[in-house]
Amino acid sequence: MICLGIEGTAHSIGVGIVQQIKNKCRVISNLIKIYKPEQGGIHPREAANHHAMYIADLIMESIKKAKIEAYNIDLVSFSKGPGLGPCLRTAATAARALSLTLDKPIMGVNHCVAHLEIGRGTIENCKDPVLLYTSGANTQVIAFAEGRYRVFGETLDIGIGNCLDKFGRTVGLDFPAGPKIEQLAIKGGNYLDLPYTIKGMDIAFSGLLTASEQYYRNNIRLEDICYSIQETTFAALTEVTERAMAHTEKNEVLLGGGVAANKRLQDMVRKMALERGASFYAPSKDLWIDNGAMIAWLGLLMYNSGNRMKIKDSMINQRFRTDMVDVTWRE
Ligand code: AMP
Ligand code: MG
Repeated sequence: MICLGIEGTAHSIGVGIVQQIKNKCRVISNLIKIYKPEQGGIHPREAANHHAMYIADLIMESIKKAKIEAYNIDLVSFSKGPGLGPCLRTAATAARALSLTLDKPIMGVNHCVAHLEIGRGTIENCKDPVLLYTSGANTQVIAFAEGRYRVFGETLDIGIGNCLDKFGRTVGLDFPAGPKIEQLAIKGGNYLDLPYTIKGMDIAFSGLLTASEQYYRNNIRLEDICYSIQETTFAALTEVTERAMAHTEKNEVLLGGGVAANKRLQDMVRKMALERGASFYAPSKDLWIDNGAMIAWLGLLMYNSGNRMKIKDSMINQRFRTDMVDVTWRE
């Protein structure tokens, strides 16, 4: 079976085509266009307009790149949520139009679960990981327990990526600020005290953001602030991930989401895994960022395990929680 998936939860519009070979996922094509606001954060309507402008071409290009014909597609899937309403609706509308045109079934999927499944689907030994999902809007520690992907820990306020981007905006770094903060942090080394907020396995960043902005206003060296933000937030993320691993007795950890690109975060989580005798996994970059292939893959898993969706039920859900999904494709 071949599935075409459309991702459109936030700033990225992506179209991926995948195929199932035995139990693994073969990515045949995976194209992404990213909306960059001229200033400030993501404006949902403008991002949706961007997606509407590119989606038709992306679908055509993706099919061409996959060296298939449109009628070879057996299933169309899309990101049902969570995300920004206008962006989700644009991706879902494109998916409905394609499903009706090709007369092929449609499947709406959970974006966060897709981040986890693409790791399991494409990494050889990744079978039952704890996922540390760190993106712009989302920060969650997710693992499988009793028929569902459960959120063992998550941010109580903003996502880690948003925290980095908001700090970047205050100090004049372009969006997305995460990569720039990473580069500045390499030149820092003087650790500044910042609030370290963990409640059980949950975490919070807004206090740390305010304190970091205060350091900046007090003319503290930017490189040292960036270094301290990374050391503090990443240590907290690693700590809650380790706690979830201990709690669930799992011995694999997987990274997903845009912030997973950060070498310092990768190093901390890898070291924690090593010390526990656990395995560390990160998919390739094009699969850990928001992308259509992960949406296509989860669509296939759901369809092949008996799920069906009618066009009239293919509404989006901005607050689609990870643990609302009935995981029918694994034990
Ligand atoms: P996503 O929402 O998953 O697409 O991820 C986007 C987020 O990842 C933005 O907040 C970026 O600032 C952040 N990001 C991207 N690259 C890096 C990096 N190297 N270090 C830290 N954050 C990053
Ligand atoms: Mg994401």
